[in-house]
Amino acid sequence: MIQLYIPLNFLGVLYREIKQSLTDLEKMFVLMDREREVADAPGATSLLPLPGGDATVRFEHVTFAYEPARVILHDVSFEIPSGKTVAVVGPSGSGKSTLARLLYRFYDVQQGHITIGGRDVRQVQQASVRRAIGIVPQDTVLFNDTVEYNIAYGRPGTTRAEVEEAARAARIHDFIQGTPKGYQTMVGERGLKLSGGEKQRVAIARTLLKDPPILIFDEATSALDSANERAIQAELRSAAQGKTTLVIAHRLSTVIDAHEILVMDAGRVIERGTHAQLLARGGRYAQMWRLQQESGEGAVEAPSGELAM
Ligand code: ATP
Repeated sequence: MIQLYIPLNFLGVLYREIKQSLTDLEKMFVLMDREREVADAPGATSLLPLPGGDATVRFEHVTFAYEPARVILHDVSFEIPSGKTVAVVGPSGSGKSTLARLLYRFYDVQQGHITIGGRDVRQVQQASVRRAIGIVPQDTVLFNDTVEYNIAYGRPGTTRAEVEEAARAARIHDFIQGTPKGYQTMVGERGLKLSGGEKQRVAIARTLLKDPPILIFDEATSALDSANERAIQAELRSAAQGKTTLVIAHRLSTVIDAHEILVMDAGRVIERGTHAQLLARGGRYAQMWRLQQESGEGAVEAPSGELAM
């Protein structure tokens, strides 16, 4: 019993941590299948294929609390039209990642609805929701396995040629070729350590292979050097082409082209619009933009003080 309890307990802790950081969600769901907090409704059917390829994501008056005493999202509504990108910005703790967790259906909303292609995510099989969504997390955890395994993980049964094609598109192929054993090089804690940018590229390659209709990008808060940053953004943009995309952004340069930008504060959408509309409005977003221009760093979040988002 104890032998069983300890690893399960450890997995439980790991699961909670991972869930918190949106890291390698799918893997953990495989491992922790029984710990799901949400269940399929009786008779739930698959979300996929999406009729007419409509991957529109809609949050309708969503109110959510992890614990009853503390409401985290208050009446949040927005739409990501199929194939478009919506970016969310706001200070730490304002609820940005919570939106992503709810879309992935880690939790069910207490009020309102989240729909994909017009279907409430509570009414379809949760496994199909997760097949429909690809996530590029802030900090990708690599498995102690080969580079090839780590990339192919997005789609079991993938051929080497497909893995290489995805790696090329994510601009990590040349790097991999330069490692001692190429695609057979072991990575992770017990293998070759990759930089933040390289890990994100592996995550992008994985997502490209999975080819889901919906993407969630949780942009890294830790600054990459600016050349790396721009390259990753270009790769993310090409991965997002034609996909319904939710970007949790920490830098304004990422959000400029978004169909709509949501500015969150304390669980509420306090401003919304395109980059140009928000600048013209002269509100919080415009203030952040000025701050970014002054600092020249492209960071969305002010560290502290009255300008902090
Ligand atoms: P950051 O930019 O720092 O990632 P965020 O805007 O993504 O922040 P969330 O992670 O969505 O913020 O968190 C919103 C609020 O919900 C925070 O106050 C956080 O403490 C709380 N919260 C997050 N996860 C849980 C949880 N599992 N249980 C209870 N409260 C939680």
